[in-house]
Amino acid sequence: MKKLIVANWKCNPKSLQEAKKLFDTIKKATKSIKETEVVICPPFLYLPVLKTKGSKIKLGAQNCFWEEQGAFDGEISPPMLKSVGCSYVIVGHSERRRLFKETDTMINKKIKALIRANLISILCVGETEEEKNKGKFTQVISDQIKKALKGVSRKDIQKVIIAYEPVWAIGTGRACRPIEAQVVHLFIRKIIARLYSRKIAERLPILYGGSVNQKNALDYLKESGMKGLLIGGASLRAKEFIKIIYDTERI
Ligand code: PEP
Repeated sequence: MKKLIVANWKCNPKSLQEAKKLFDTIKKATKSIKETEVVICPPFLYLPVLKTKGSKIKLGAQNCFWEEQGAFDGEISPPMLKSVGCSYVIVGHSERRRLFKETDTMINKKIKALIRANLISILCVGETEEEKNKGKFTQVISDQIKKALKGVSRKDIQKVIIAYEPVWAIGTGRACRPIEAQVVHLFIRKIIARLYSRKIAERLPILYGGSVNQKNALDYLKESGMKGLLIGGASLRAKEFIKIIYDTERI
């Protein structure tokens, strides 16, 4: 399976013009990649405008609603995302959990709705600094995974990717040490093996996210056994993001 490099643009850039420029730069530079799947998750509004045709880039969204359609002001559903060319959707990002009070139950509904729409969920899990200091990370991560995947079948788990994103490392410049990421990586596999099977656990892609940059990116792929990276800040800097993709191609 290819390595997966996911760009989470969050609420950036400020204009469609800037978004197109950034996207086109990445698109042009990645035409010849072979070993890496690049997924760009821009704000919803830019999705139908960013043209992936003739490129290796896939589109992803940063969130979704769990109903297909109806009286739900301001929400965007999985079939809508599918209809504008999305293949992946990030679910349960810590900023959504913290700022928009997203619960594990809501995340579970979103994952099931994404499965129905045949979209791949990128489920974000991770502990806060306080939870880490109290030695609670295993409990937090195991709870988040079990609740998010409640009722997801052995067949449907194939449409789920897990991203380990320690909350204290997101946007802080304090990246998690690769050895720490490796410990969590193995722990996540253990939970999946218990919930499903060892075979499923071995196949499930696990990503790392949190202050990834061009200097540390490869450490996670080489030393932590991660299948890919979820990148926020550095994905908005075209040159740096492209370098990470090309470094990934070479391992
Ligand atoms: C993120 O937003 O998911 C993220 C990992 O951000 P950053 O790379 O900026 O820490």
